[in-house]
Amino acid sequence: MSRFDIALPHTFKHGESIKLKDFSSGPPEDIGFGKKAAHKRIGLNAVEMAEMAKRLYAENRRSILLVLQGMDTAGKDGTIRWVMRGMNPTSCQVTSFKRPSEIELDHDFLWRCHKAVPRKGNIGIFNRSHYEDVLVVRVHSLVPESVWSERYEQINDFEKLLSSTGTTIVKCFLHISKETQRERLQERIDVTEKHWKFNPGDLKERKLWSEYQQAYEAALSKCNSEHSPWYIIPSDKKWYRNLVISQLLKRVLEDLDPQFPEAEEDFRGLVVE
Ligand code: AMP
Ligand code: MG
Repeated sequence: MSRFDIALPHTFKHGESIKLKDFSSGPPEDIGFGKKAAHKRIGLNAVEMAEMAKRLYAENRRSILLVLQGMDTAGKDGTIRWVMRGMNPTSCQVTSFKRPSEIELDHDFLWRCHKAVPRKGNIGIFNRSHYEDVLVVRVHSLVPESVWSERYEQINDFEKLLSSTGTTIVKCFLHISKETQRERLQERIDVTEKHWKFNPGDLKERKLWSEYQQAYEAALSKCNSEHSPWYIIPSDKKWYRNLVISQLLKRVLEDLDPQFPEAEEDFRGLVVE
């Protein structure tokens, strides 16, 4: 047991209906360490994770899909930068899902996500995901309720298919307070180097904060299964958020315990001339 074991995400029972206000968006009060120690731990984790990811790639049997969701400014991009340190880019892919294109809209909502699922041996990260189709789509009524309400079950079936064919799914909701979002949006307005991150549309979305929280509560509650769990990541402090996700991913890799495969032929004793 290390003192960093305190940095594991909140989970909840399958079938439980959750309320986000019951979950803290900051580190525990009794945490006992800070940013510096967390960064050191993340660095050490990165070394261990890179070794296990190498084995996962060599083994070429299974894959990991990390799904990142959260309100604007929750830190999806920052998490990817931190957590994927030291990983071999050949075996990791990040897919960012934006507003669907015309061709994507001409298919079922899972089509573009299914195409982006990591191949065997790889780690895939979804920066936003198929969950947008029950979040922004629900909040803005982009399709009728009769359509989006069917999607939770469709998502569960999709994720069951992935997990039963060798993909370990890890879904993280980056949980921030409304006040943290205010501060981060204000910074994007005030700091010249951050202007590029600011989208005036984010202010309109912020007005729909409680509608989004409700949509998240429904998605998390309805699509939380043993084979595809949601983790609620306290994300008001970036260092704590990164540490929790790093600890979580390291544990997932340890549980998979990938091994270098045996050579198909016994070529011991061969001499290369
Ligand atoms: P960003 O992550 O800041 O680059 O913004 C991407 C935008 O695409 C967000 O406003 C998302 O809500 C939006 N988006 C992603 N997926 C969908 C979807 N399936 N339908 C509508 N909008 C989406
Ligand atoms: Mg944005």
